[in-house]
Amino acid sequence: MERMTLVPIGAIEPEILVQLKQSLEQTYPSVVEISPQMEKPDCAYNPRRRQYLAPLILAAINESAAEGKTLGVADVDLYAPGLNFVFGQADIKRGRAVISLCRLRQEYYGLAQDKELFSLRAIKEAIHEIGHTYGLMHCPHEACVMHFSNSLADTDRKEDSLCQKCRSKLWSAP
Ligand SMILES: [Zn+2]
Ligand SMILES: [Zn+2]
Repeated sequence: MERMTLVPIGAIEPEILVQLKQSLEQTYPSVVEISPQMEKPDCAYNPRRRQYLAPLILAAINESAAEGKTLGVADVDLYAPGLNFVFGQADIKRGRAVISLCRLRQEYYGLAQDKELFSLRAIKEAIHEIGHTYGLMHCPHEACVMHFSNSLADTDRKEDSLCQKCRSKLWSAP
Protein backbone atom coordinates (compact mmCIF):
# COMPACT_ATOMS: atom_id res chain seq x y z
CA MET A 1 0.00 0.00 0.00
CA GLU A 2 1.23 3.41 -0.98
CA ARG A 3 0.72 6.43 1.24
CA MET A 4 -1.13 9.34 -0.29
CA THR A 5 -1.81 12.76 1.22
CA LEU A 6 -4.81 15.01 0.77
CA VAL A 7 -3.90 18.63 1.39
CA PRO A 8 -6.68 21.17 1.94
CA ILE A 9 -5.54 24.47 0.44
CA GLY A 10 -7.35 27.07 2.49
CA ALA A 11 -10.53 26.10 4.33
CA ILE A 12 -12.26 23.02 2.84
CA GLU A 13 -15.34 21.28 4.28
CA PRO A 14 -14.14 18.22 6.23
CA GLU A 15 -17.06 16.24 4.81
CA ILE A 16 -15.81 16.49 1.22
CA LEU A 17 -12.25 15.61 2.28
CA VAL A 18 -13.48 12.40 3.91
CA GLN A 19 -15.45 11.50 0.77
CA LEU A 20 -12.41 12.09 -1.42
CA LYS A 21 -10.22 10.02 0.89
CA GLN A 22 -12.64 7.07 0.75
CA SER A 23 -13.01 7.20 -3.04
CA LEU A 24 -9.27 7.41 -3.62
CA GLU A 25 -8.65 4.48 -1.28
CA GLN A 26 -11.28 2.44 -3.10
CA THR A 27 -9.75 3.19 -6.51
CA TYR A 28 -6.02 3.12 -5.88
CA PRO A 29 -3.77 0.81 -3.85
CA SER A 30 -3.21 3.48 -1.24
CA VAL A 31 -3.88 4.69 2.26
CA VAL A 32 -4.91 8.33 2.26
CA GLU A 33 -4.09 10.73 5.04
CA ILE A 34 -5.72 14.16 5.35
CA SER A 35 -3.05 16.67 6.25
CA PRO A 36 -3.52 19.98 8.09
CA GLN A 37 -4.61 22.87 5.94
CA MET A 38 -2.02 24.70 3.82
CA GLU A 39 -2.29 28.45 3.27
CA LYS A 40 -3.33 29.52 -0.21
CA PRO A 41 -0.04 30.56 -1.82
CA ASP A 42 -0.25 34.33 -2.47
CA CYS A 43 2.38 34.10 -5.19
CA ALA A 44 0.00 31.97 -7.29
CA TYR A 45 -2.78 34.57 -7.19
CA ASN A 46 -3.47 36.71 -10.24
CA PRO A 47 -5.56 39.69 -9.04
CA ARG A 48 -6.48 40.72 -12.58
CA ARG A 49 -8.00 37.30 -13.32
CA ARG A 50 -9.04 36.61 -9.70
CA GLN A 51 -7.69 33.12 -10.20
CA TYR A 52 -4.75 31.06 -8.97
CA LEU A 53 -2.15 29.69 -11.35
CA ALA A 54 -2.31 25.90 -11.03
CA PRO A 55 1.39 25.14 -11.74
CA LEU A 56 2.43 27.49 -8.92
CA ILE A 57 0.03 25.79 -6.54
CA LEU A 58 1.58 22.47 -7.53
CA ALA A 59 5.03 23.92 -6.83
CA ALA A 60 3.88 25.11 -3.39
CA ILE A 61 2.45 21.66 -2.63
CA ASN A 62 5.73 20.15 -3.73
CA GLU A 63 7.69 22.33 -1.31
CA SER A 64 5.55 21.79 1.75
CA ALA A 65 4.00 18.35 1.41
CA ALA A 66 5.44 15.03 2.50
CA GLU A 67 6.87 12.43 0.14
CA GLY A 68 4.49 10.41 -1.97
CA LYS A 69 1.45 11.17 -4.05
CA THR A 70 -0.35 14.30 -2.97
CA LEU A 71 -3.66 15.82 -3.96
CA GLY A 72 -4.27 19.46 -3.13
CA VAL A 73 -7.91 20.45 -2.77
CA ALA A 74 -8.59 24.13 -3.34
CA ASP A 75 -11.78 26.14 -3.25
CA VAL A 76 -10.44 28.88 -5.48
CA ASP A 77 -10.63 29.09 -9.25
CA LEU A 78 -7.55 27.74 -11.05
CA TYR A 79 -6.08 28.50 -14.44
CA ALA A 80 -3.10 27.41 -16.50
CA PRO A 81 -1.17 29.22 -19.24
CA GLY A 82 -3.35 29.38 -22.35
CA LEU A 83 -6.50 28.18 -20.57
CA ASN A 84 -9.39 30.18 -19.11
CA PHE A 85 -9.63 27.78 -16.21
CA VAL A 86 -8.78 24.23 -15.21
CA PHE A 87 -10.72 21.81 -13.02
CA GLY A 88 -7.42 20.34 -11.93
CA GLN A 89 -3.86 19.67 -12.93
CA ALA A 90 -1.22 17.06 -12.23
CA ASP A 91 2.56 17.08 -12.04
CA ILE A 92 3.06 13.52 -13.17
CA LYS A 93 6.80 13.34 -12.48
CA ARG A 94 6.51 14.43 -8.87
CA GLY A 95 3.20 12.73 -8.16
CA ARG A 96 1.46 15.95 -7.17
CA ALA A 97 -1.99 17.02 -8.28
CA VAL A 98 -4.51 19.71 -7.46
CA ILE A 99 -8.24 20.09 -8.01
CA SER A 100 -10.50 23.09 -7.65
CA LEU A 101 -13.96 22.76 -6.13
CA CYS A 102 -14.95 26.21 -7.36
CA ARG A 103 -16.71 25.34 -10.62
CA LEU A 104 -18.17 22.04 -9.38
CA ARG A 105 -21.02 23.64 -7.46
CA GLN A 106 -24.34 24.27 -9.15
CA GLU A 107 -24.46 27.65 -7.35
CA TYR A 108 -21.48 28.79 -9.41
CA TYR A 109 -23.81 28.74 -12.44
CA GLY A 110 -26.72 30.37 -10.62
CA LEU A 111 -28.48 27.03 -10.09
CA ALA A 112 -29.90 25.47 -6.94
CA GLN A 113 -27.45 23.76 -4.62
CA ASP A 114 -27.01 20.01 -5.16
CA LYS A 115 -24.64 18.58 -2.56
CA GLU A 116 -24.67 15.07 -3.95
CA LEU A 117 -23.81 16.19 -7.47
CA PHE A 118 -21.09 18.43 -6.07
CA SER A 119 -19.47 15.53 -4.18
CA LEU A 120 -19.68 13.26 -7.16
CA ARG A 121 -17.98 15.82 -9.40
CA ALA A 122 -15.22 16.39 -6.84
CA ILE A 123 -14.67 12.63 -6.55
CA LYS A 124 -14.38 12.30 -10.34
CA GLU A 125 -11.88 15.16 -10.56
CA ALA A 126 -9.81 13.73 -7.71
CA ILE A 127 -9.69 10.21 -9.16
CA HIS A 128 -8.87 11.67 -12.59
CA GLU A 129 -5.93 13.83 -11.48
CA ILE A 130 -4.48 11.16 -9.21
CA GLY A 131 -4.86 8.73 -12.12
CA HIS A 132 -2.35 10.84 -14.02
CA THR A 133 0.14 10.45 -11.17
CA TYR A 134 -0.24 6.68 -11.60
CA GLY A 135 0.75 7.10 -15.25
CA LEU A 136 -2.77 6.89 -16.67
CA MET A 137 -3.38 9.03 -19.74
CA HIS A 138 -6.64 10.40 -21.11
CA CYS A 139 -8.96 7.57 -22.06
CA PRO A 140 -11.07 7.61 -25.24
CA HIS A 141 -13.88 5.78 -23.40
CA GLU A 142 -16.48 8.48 -22.55
CA ALA A 143 -17.70 6.82 -19.39
CA CYS A 144 -14.20 6.34 -17.96
CA VAL A 145 -13.09 8.71 -15.22
CA MET A 146 -9.84 9.25 -17.19
CA HIS A 147 -11.78 10.72 -20.12
CA PHE A 148 -10.82 14.38 -20.59
CA SER A 149 -13.39 16.86 -19.23
CA ASN A 150 -13.63 20.01 -21.26
CA SER A 151 -16.82 21.02 -19.50
CA LEU A 152 -18.94 19.93 -16.57
CA ALA A 153 -21.22 18.12 -19.02
CA ASP A 154 -18.25 15.84 -19.80
CA THR A 155 -17.62 15.35 -16.09
CA ASP A 156 -21.27 14.53 -15.44
CA ARG A 157 -21.35 12.07 -18.32
CA LYS A 158 -18.49 9.96 -17.05
CA GLU A 159 -18.50 7.57 -14.15
CA ASP A 160 -16.50 7.88 -10.96
CA SER A 161 -14.43 4.82 -11.78
CA LEU A 162 -11.73 3.58 -14.12
CA CYS A 163 -12.76 1.53 -17.15
CA GLN A 164 -11.53 -2.04 -17.47
CA LYS A 165 -8.61 -1.00 -19.68
CA CYS A 166 -7.38 1.76 -17.36
CA ARG A 167 -7.80 -0.52 -14.36
CA SER A 168 -5.64 -3.19 -15.92
CA LYS A 169 -3.02 -0.56 -16.81
CA LEU A 170 -3.03 0.62 -13.21
CA TRP A 171 -2.54 -2.85 -11.80
CA SER A 172 0.10 -3.86 -14.34
CA ALA A 173 2.19 -0.70 -13.81
CA PRO A 174 5.63 -1.33 -12.33
ZN1 LIG B 1 -6.51 14.79 -17.33
ZN1 LIG C 1 -10.35 4.28 -19.29
